[in-house]
Amino acid sequence: MQIHILTLFPEFFRGPLETSILARARDRGYVEFQMLDIRDFTENKHRQADDTPYGGGAGMVMKPGPVVRALEYARESSPEAPRILLTPQGEQFEQETAESLADERDLILVCGRYEGIDERVREDWIDRELSIGDYVLPGGEIAALCVTEAVVRLLPGVLGNQDSLDEESFAQGRLEYPHYTRPQTFRGHEVPDVLLSGDHQRVDEWRREQAEKRTARRRPDLLEDDREGDKGGEDET
Ligand code: SAM
Repeated sequence: MQIHILTLFPEFFRGPLETSILARARDRGYVEFQMLDIRDFTENKHRQADDTPYGGGAGMVMKPGPVVRALEYARESSPEAPRILLTPQGEQFEQETAESLADERDLILVCGRYEGIDERVREDWIDRELSIGDYVLPGGEIAALCVTEAVVRLLPGVLGNQDSLDEESFAQGRLEYPHYTRPQTFRGHEVPDVLLSGDHQRVDEWRREQAEKRTARRRPDLLEDDREGDKGGEDET
């Protein structure tokens, strides 16, 4: 997969893309990162990529020309890649979104800054808009990294143990069960006995039960979604 990231601050990505799973995935050839500095696509000597808003008001707006030229450049090597704008006004980015994006061949991620990007770009040159939550960040870079990390770890082969993905939070519409590691006693707190029993069936049952209880307590909405899904199935038959 090739991930093109359009940003005014390519340096923002240096640490994260050089770290842990993202760096390993790139070194092993599962993913390539193509950083595009939107300022490289400006046509003025000051490399200015923003301007004052029509109609007046606070803040600056990213000019359409540099963003569209950067998008066209990315599409030259990835003609089918969805062009995704990170914006607080987009659909909520969830595990399911990450799963569907992991099936794409390539991705193009566009990071806004200031008040955002000229609306005409959104209307004609963007395929999908994603938000990482109901809060406003100063730029789309952190959001692009969230999407990148969530997607890359799903690419086949990237994680050593693919089985761990099946049990993870949201994979089965549940939160995952709690984890413990050595030491067996930590400052007076014990590991649950069942995990020391060596009885795999009991461990599995305990984990299923814990996942269920934890989801009911913390995220009952996930269980409701599940029931809604079941009802939908019945209606259809
Ligand atoms: N004026 C915009 C509004 O009120 O909707 C907010 C612009 S924000 C200060 C600047 C940029 O940060 C946005 O263009 C977007 O790329 C990014 N951004 C901010 N919050 C985000 C979020 N929750 N999810 C994804 N991107 C976000």
